[in-house]
Amino acid sequence: MKIETISLTTPYLNLDPIFYHEVHPTPLHNPQLVSYNTDAVQLLGLDPDQIVPEQLTNILNGTQILNGSRPYAMCYAGHQFGYFVPRLGDGRAINLGLYNGWNLQLKGSGQTLYSRQGDGRAVLRSSIREYLMSEAMHALGIPTSRALALISSDEKVARENWERGAIVLRLSPSWIRFGSFEYFFHSNKHAQLEQLADFLITESFPELVGVEDAYTKMYGEIVKRTAHMIAHWQSVGFNHGVMNTDNMSAIGITIDYGPYAFLDTFESGYICNHTDHEGRYSYDNQPRIGHWNLAQLGRALSPLISPEKSAHELEKYGNYFTTKLLELLKNKLGLDTLPDEESTLFRSLFTTMENGRTDMTPFFRTLSHYEGDRSPLLALSLAPNQLNDWLDIYDECLQINTSSVHERHAKMLACNPKYVLKNYILQEAIDLAEKDDFSLVNGLLKLAQSPYDEHPEFERYAQSTPLQHTNLKLSCSS
Ligand code: AMP
Ligand code: MG
Repeated sequence: MKIETISLTTPYLNLDPIFYHEVHPTPLHNPQLVSYNTDAVQLLGLDPDQIVPEQLTNILNGTQILNGSRPYAMCYAGHQFGYFVPRLGDGRAINLGLYNGWNLQLKGSGQTLYSRQGDGRAVLRSSIREYLMSEAMHALGIPTSRALALISSDEKVARENWERGAIVLRLSPSWIRFGSFEYFFHSNKHAQLEQLADFLITESFPELVGVEDAYTKMYGEIVKRTAHMIAHWQSVGFNHGVMNTDNMSAIGITIDYGPYAFLDTFESGYICNHTDHEGRYSYDNQPRIGHWNLAQLGRALSPLISPEKSAHELEKYGNYFTTKLLELLKNKLGLDTLPDEESTLFRSLFTTMENGRTDMTPFFRTLSHYEGDRSPLLALSLAPNQLNDWLDIYDECLQINTSSVHERHAKMLACNPKYVLKNYILQEAIDLAEKDDFSLVNGLLKLAQSPYDEHPEFERYAQSTPLQHTNLKLSCSS
C-alpha cells in the first residue's frame, strides 16, 4: 500500500473543543529527508518499497496533508520538577490523526496555541536523539513511542547556539499523558475529565469498555504498566531525565525523549539532565518518581475513583516494579530459578559495578559468555577483589541452574544487548549530520534495531565508554 492511499481518522476531535486546538504545521525552509524507518513504515501497513522520499519529506514538512487528516495540538497540564503548571499542551507537536491503531504526530512543526514563549521548533540534534532512541528502546523490549522518519532543514533555530530545525514523525497508540487528566482535574472540569477517561478506555483499554469499576481498573493498569516500564529502564541503565507528569504516558510507554542517557560506568545517583540540580530525576530515583507521578494521576482521577480504591491500586506499584525487575535481572544473569538470597545477589552486583566503575552494558554482555574464566570480567572492574567475591556467589548460583552452559549463554545473549546508544555515540552521528552526512544516523538506526546482534563495523561502540565521554550531563535545550 502507498502512503497516499491511506486515510486517517481524528477521533480526538470528537471531544469538546477545550481538549485541542486545530492548527496546521508551519513548514521548514528547504527540508531534507535524513532517514526513514522501514519497520515503522510497516506498522502502518505500508510497503517500504513504495515510499517516495520527496513525498515523505512533504508529509513531515506539512506541505502534503494525508487523506482524512485534520491537524491539531492537544491540551494538557503537568507537574514539572514537582511544581504544577496549569496549562502546557503540545507546544511544538502537531497530531495528524489515527491510522492502523497509531496516532501520527509531527514534533517540531511550528507554533500552536500552547507554545507559550516557545518557537514550536525542535533542533536536529534532539530530533536525531528522539528518532534513534525510540527505535532502540523498542528493540530492547521496552514499551515506547515509535519514530517513522526525520527531516532536517536550513531553518535557523535559536538555542544556546543557532541550530537547524528538524521534524520527527512519531507514532503512538496514544498521546494522552498523566498531565492530560491533571489539566481537567485542576481546572475543575470534571465532566471533561470523565470524557477523557472514557476516550482513553475506548482508545487504549478496549477490554474495559462497559466493565464495572472501569476507571479503577484503568488506573490499576496504568500503575502496572508504568512500574514495568521503569523496571525495564533500570535493568538496562536508562535515565529518562525529565519525568514530569506531562512526559508520562497514560498507556505506560516511554515518550518525550529529551536529555536521556544510558549509564556508561555504573553510577546509581547519575543525573543526565544538566538542569536537574537536586537529582529529582536521577537514575536511582526513577522508581520513586514513577510512584509520585502515579499518585498525582490518582489525585487527578479522584472525581472518578474513590481515594480508597486508588490508594489500593497504587499500593501495588512497589510489588509490580520489584517483581518485574527481579525477573529481568534473573534473565540477565542467566539464572533459571531465583536463589534464596536473590536481592543480596543483585544488590551486591550493583555495588560491585559502582565501586569498580564498570560499564554496565559490556559487563552483562561479557558475562553472557562466562564459562569460568574471570579475566575478561575482571578487566572491566577497578575493584577486582569485590568482583571476585561476587563471582564466587554467582558461581554457586550457577551450580543450581538446570539449563546447560550453552543454553544459558544463548538466553543471556538474547537479553543483554551488545549495543546501547550511549550519548557519545549519538553525538558522533549528530556531528556528521550537522555537516549533511546522514550515514551514521542511518547506521545507528540499524544498530538500534538489532542491539543483540554482532555488528563488526561498530565493534568499538560495544566497548566501555571512553573516559572523557563517561557520564556527562546534557542540556535540556532541544
Ligand atoms: P518537554 O520538556 O520537551 O516535554 O516540553 C515541555 C513543554 O514545553 C511541552 O508543553 C512542550 O510542548 C513545550 N515546549 C518545549 N519546547 C518548545 C518549543 N520550542 N516551542 C514551544 N513549546 C515547547
Ligand atoms: Mg514533553
